[in-house]
Amino acid sequence: MSRTIDLRADIGEVLISEEAIAARVAELGRQVTADYRGEPLTLVSVLKGSLPFMADLMRQIELPVRIDLMEVSSYGGTATESSGLVRIIKDLSASIAGEHVLLVEDIIDTGLTLNYLVRYLRGKNPASLRICTLLDKPARRLAEIPVDYRGFEIPDQFVVGYGLDYGERYRNLRFVGVLRPEVYSAPE
Ligand code: 5GP
Repeated sequence: MSRTIDLRADIGEVLISEEAIAARVAELGRQVTADYRGEPLTLVSVLKGSLPFMADLMRQIELPVRIDLMEVSSYGGTATESSGLVRIIKDLSASIAGEHVLLVEDIIDTGLTLNYLVRYLRGKNPASLRICTLLDKPARRLAEIPVDYRGFEIPDQFVVGYGLDYGERYRNLRFVGVLRPEVYSAPE
């Protein structure tokens, strides 16, 4: 059994509430809808963390939308730090050549993962490629990333919830929060 089943109790601070997320996602959807002016759009999201954001955002976009999913893992890092070495576990299932593509991400921290993905996707010759991230942690940026749509800028804290995990847990929380420090140090 897990150490605790009360996931909420492991959260020290709710950084972004469920209501604030919903309001901002609706705004982003309206912005995307207006910017693409009726053009068909392919949303590409990166599992697993972007899953709730993708599911909510796509329903706020009023365009002919196609979706595709990739899954990547970064290796050589730690539980809370990415290394920038990216392995593609699941590739796109259809060609994006000539398509307008919006890459939907959960969070940009160092930017190393996204930097790799952007180069990878550009190599597939989309008509355009823009980036939409729910969360942006600019404090630790190592790679310059042109972010077109940003949900929230957050401080340099490790966050969980609304898709984001720690050790594969907490993804199902409806809000974005900061874990209590004890959770990192507690034995399983
Ligand atoms: P980057 O390559 O930009 O440093 O990190 C990208 C990936 O690291 C994200 O897609 C996410 O999986 C993970 N990550 C970065 N910061 C956080 C965070 O605060 N919380 C969680 N749960 N994952 C993070």
